[in-house]
Amino acid sequence: MSSKTYRIAALAGDGIGPEVMREALNVLRAIGTRFSLSFEITEAPVGWAGIDAAGKALPDATLELCRNSDSILFGSVGLPDRDPTIPKDQRPERAALLRIRKEFGLFANLRPVQLPKALAHACPLRPERQGDGIDILVVRELTGGMYFGQPKKTEDLGNGQQRAIDTMVYTTPEIERIAHVGFKAARLRRKKLTSIDKANVLENGVLWREVVTRVGKEYPDVALEHMFVDNGAMQLMLRPTQFDVVLCENMFGDILSDEAAALAGSLGMLPSASLGATSAEQTFGFYEPAGGTAPDIAGKDLANPIAQILSVALMLRYSFGLNAAADAVDAAVGKAIAQGLRTGDIHSATDAAARRVGTREMGAAIVAAI
Ligand code: NAD
Repeated sequence: MSSKTYRIAALAGDGIGPEVMREALNVLRAIGTRFSLSFEITEAPVGWAGIDAAGKALPDATLELCRNSDSILFGSVGLPDRDPTIPKDQRPERAALLRIRKEFGLFANLRPVQLPKALAHACPLRPERQGDGIDILVVRELTGGMYFGQPKKTEDLGNGQQRAIDTMVYTTPEIERIAHVGFKAARLRRKKLTSIDKANVLENGVLWREVVTRVGKEYPDVALEHMFVDNGAMQLMLRPTQFDVVLCENMFGDILSDEAAALAGSLGMLPSASLGATSAEQTFGFYEPAGGTAPDIAGKDLANPIAQILSVALMLRYSFGLNAAADAVDAAVGKAIAQGLRTGDIHSATDAAARRVGTREMGAAIVAAI
């Protein structure tokens, strides 16, 4: 057994969070056994579970646990029937999620979109556009650009009219650090990076392209191409199989990552990673499914645990550099799908080989495949 112990804060949250987290932790433990890895998993309440247990969406003890951990595995938070009953700044998404993002300086968001051939029916594109399956990683800058640039205000023009101002601003170091995340991720994949910008119109786009090109020289094994964002949005629909890693600034990434996500057909299949500071050995990361708490199906053994389980794979790969273990999780998910197991969100009545299963059975099949 390797001497290192990986400390993981597991915050399941609300709605389907605890159900899918249970399966993800079973997978993590199975990986620990198979690869002789030591994981110290500590569970703590967050969201409404935090408010009920300790009066706050992010209880002090939960935040302290996160500070003392190597990474956070997160479920999801928020309940639409309870959220409106408390002030906005105390609601789970703001008080827990945004707080954690800020506290840990999470500047890079990674959203992989994988559509195995067996799930072609779940994709809105015609099969001939899906090739041998879609496999894209959107890397989005998370703390700069138009969403945070100053000045940001609405002015009264005095004649009954107003003027709204948002400022798009990036500095060289901000672009450099996200570019490194993108190129490193491409190295772990098919070694192609498409950098998205609007260099034909925006000063930010010109600087983005210059800096990404310069950083790219440090990664000669990764093929770099540049694409204007409007063309990128179109190409994602026309020929998604051309993409490996797609690198975007904050707002373009917000839009394109959702567009790419639609290709996978269900939120239940989509994990995400938000990365912070990197040390020589590991990167602090926050790993969560792309979807929310799905109150419509919570507590009914209906939720797809795959997004949460693939979040474990991302954590192993991007925080701990445990690529073989991450590959084993991805492969086990692939095997369960290939065996025909489908939760309701990815089930098609026309697929005769498919069998509808619940959260537990899907999780158990993935554990068995490890
Ligand atoms: P949602 O993502 O929870 O649900 C949208 C639809 O997708 C629902 O039909 C749901 O059943 C389905 N779905 C989502 N995950 C699924 C899974 N794993 N398996 C099967 N089906 C799945 O979005 P919503 O309904 O708009 O939001 C519900 C609550 O979640 C709200 O309180 C919202 O604020 C919160 N939310 C939290 C996060 C987060 O914690 N990061 C993200 C989004 C929404």
